[in-house]
Amino acid sequence: MRIDLHTHSLFSDGTDRPSELVNKAMSQGITTLALTDHDTIAGWDEAIEWLRPGLDLVLGSEISCQTEDGISVHMLGLLFDPKNQPLQEMMAQTRDNRMGRMERIIGRMNGAGIEITIEEVHAQLSEGATLGRPHLADALVAKGLAKSRDEVFADWLANSSPFYVAHYSPTPEVAIATIKAAGGVAVIAHPLASLRGRVVSIDSFDSYIAAGLDGIEVKHRDQTPDQQQLLFDIAAGSDLAMTGSSDYHGTGKMNELGEFTTDPEEWAKLESRAEARRVIRL
Ligand code: AMP
Ligand code: ZN
Ligand code: FE
Ligand code: FE
Repeated sequence: MRIDLHTHSLFSDGTDRPSELVNKAMSQGITTLALTDHDTIAGWDEAIEWLRPGLDLVLGSEISCQTEDGISVHMLGLLFDPKNQPLQEMMAQTRDNRMGRMERIIGRMNGAGIEITIEEVHAQLSEGATLGRPHLADALVAKGLAKSRDEVFADWLANSSPFYVAHYSPTPEVAIATIKAAGGVAVIAHPLASLRGRVVSIDSFDSYIAAGLDGIEVKHRDQTPDQQQLLFDIAAGSDLAMTGSSDYHGTGKMNELGEFTTDPEEWAKLESRAEARRVIRL
C-alpha cells in the first residue's frame, strides 16, 4: 500500500485539477489518496467523479489555524461529514477573511512600489478556489516581477516579511473540536516546519491532545530528521497516529506526489478513530 494523506488541487493553491490528481495517484501506484485543499471541500465532487477501482479516496481539508500568540498552524481534517454546518461555516469565514487580507498585503506591496492589483491576483485563481499567497506569487510571476513562487516567498511573502498579513483563523483547539464534532479525524500538518515561520512549542501538544487530536504529520519534506524524531516520540507517547505525506501542490511546489507516505497500520489507527467509514472506494 502507498498512502498519501495530504495533497492540494487548483481548488486551493495546487495546480492540478482533482481529476488529474486522481489519475496521477493511480498511475504512480498510490493506493490511498487524501485531497486536502486549504479551507474548502470544493474539489471533492470532481475527485469522486474521476475515481476508479484501485484507489481509495479520503476526503478532507487543511484548515488554517492561528494560536493566541499568532503562530500559524495547519490542521488536516479527514473523513468528516461534509454536511456539518459548524465546520462549513468555519471554513467559509476563513475563505472570506482571506479576501480582505489579500487586499491588505497588496496595499503594503503597492506602498513599497511593487505594482500589482487584486484583479491580477484573481486572474490566477480558479473558479471556486480558496485564495492564498501563492496566487499573489503567480500574479507577480505572470507580470515578470519574479521567476517563481519560491522566489516570491523567499523575497517578499515569508511569514516574517513586512508584507505579511495574517487572516482570521480558528485556534488549533477549536479546529480540532470542530473537525471531531463533524465526525472526522484531526491530524496536525507539518507542526515543526520552522522554515515557514514560527512554530508551536512541544508543550502545546498537550492542549491539542486534550482537544482530541488524532494524529501528527511526522514525515514531511519541511521537517528535518531531528524534528521528525521529536514528533515521532510525541505521537508514540500519546498513542496518536503518525503520518507521512507529500503536501503535493502540482507545479506550485517541488513536492512530488507520494514522496512521503503513511504506514498502513498508522492509517488503520487513524481511520478507526473517525465516526463513520467514509473512505470512498469503487
Ligand atoms: P496562505 O494560505 O495564503 O497563508 O499561503 C500559505 C501557502 O503558501 C502554504 O499552504 C504553502 O502551500 C504555500 N507556500 C509557502 N511557502 C511556499 C514556497 N516557498 N513556495 C511555494 N508555495 C509556498
Ligand atoms: Zn498550500
Ligand atoms: Fe500546510
Ligand atoms: Fe498543505
